[in-house]
Amino acid sequence: MSIGMTPSRAQRWRAGLWRRLKRLLIVGTIAVVAGWLYAASFSPEREDWDGQRAALANRTMRPLPVRPDRDSLLADVRELASEKYAGRRVDSDGGRLAADYLVGRLQALGIAPLVPGYRQPFSFQRKRIRQFWTGGIDTHGVNLLGVVRGQSRPDDYLVVSAHYDHLGEHNGAIYPGADDNASGVATLLAAAAHFKAHPPAHSIVFALFDGEETGMAGARHFVDSGVLSMAKVRLNLNFDMLSRSSDGVLFATGTWQHPELKALVDPLRAQAPIVVLYGHDQPRPFWDSEDWVHASDHGCFHDAGVPFLYLGVPDHADYHRPGDTFDAIDADFFVDCAAFALSLVAAADAAE
Ligand SMILES: [Zn+2]
Repeated sequence: MSIGMTPSRAQRWRAGLWRRLKRLLIVGTIAVVAGWLYAASFSPEREDWDGQRAALANRTMRPLPVRPDRDSLLADVRELASEKYAGRRVDSDGGRLAADYLVGRLQALGIAPLVPGYRQPFSFQRKRIRQFWTGGIDTHGVNLLGVVRGQSRPDDYLVVSAHYDHLGEHNGAIYPGADDNASGVATLLAAAAHFKAHPPAHSIVFALFDGEETGMAGARHFVDSGVLSMAKVRLNLNFDMLSRSSDGVLFATGTWQHPELKALVDPLRAQAPIVVLYGHDQPRPFWDSEDWVHASDHGCFHDAGVPFLYLGVPDHADYHRPGDTFDAIDADFFVDCAAFALSLVAAADAAE
């Protein structure tokens, strides 16, 4: 075949380049198809928020069974989001002052401590990019744990939780975290006040977690600590961001994992002044941040096999920004969300 002509350097280079391009094309195509098949194996469109919204449009609104005290709800958010607490970062002076304030509130409400002085200290290694290969920073947090003992089923527990830490200060700006999550903390305190006055059937632990913003360190410690056996916990109700929503929507997340919990939520959302949607709980591709199953402390309960319901609003423009202030919350919407949350705890307590 050969007629004695050898290919030139340029020809050889072009042929090599073409071979490499072909290989890249094949590998790229396989990767795209595999990625597409992976993404297509999830179908979160079944969450059908428009359909749920349409079904709720004609609901007959009635006052929810449990109403929180509006003034005390707002006062707690105003206090925790004030400059005094400087954004309540875990292991900061502001965070410790917030813990002192909350211990005072639990005492004033007459809630019994679950652990001495309500405080469950813990420590963990906080990683920053710089410490990727090294140990990280020793960080100390403290969970605050109160309990109201159940009347008829004292050995069956509900855990009502909210994280009280936030992001602290960065570049001279305070991140007040009024919605995230002074609103959930205030709602938890309102629930504690309600069940102190109206003793529940189950025992209810009120858990104010620290270190949520740094990988849910506090909730993870609580779940693993054995201070309360997770086998006794029937349900975790976690409140995180309840005070502002541009379209009046609150999500109830967790019914995809535990569809039986819809029996608690359905009657309440059929009468609530706010729109409560199911969702953000179906499995999604790992890059999709709309999967909220591990977006807050309820994820630790879920990992321990405890059913959970998480209440929270969609992310907003001031999420994790200095603009998450007390003045920016929607007071009427917040009080309605808190009423929904308290009514939901009462419904869970009344259920078998
Ligand atoms: Zn949060």
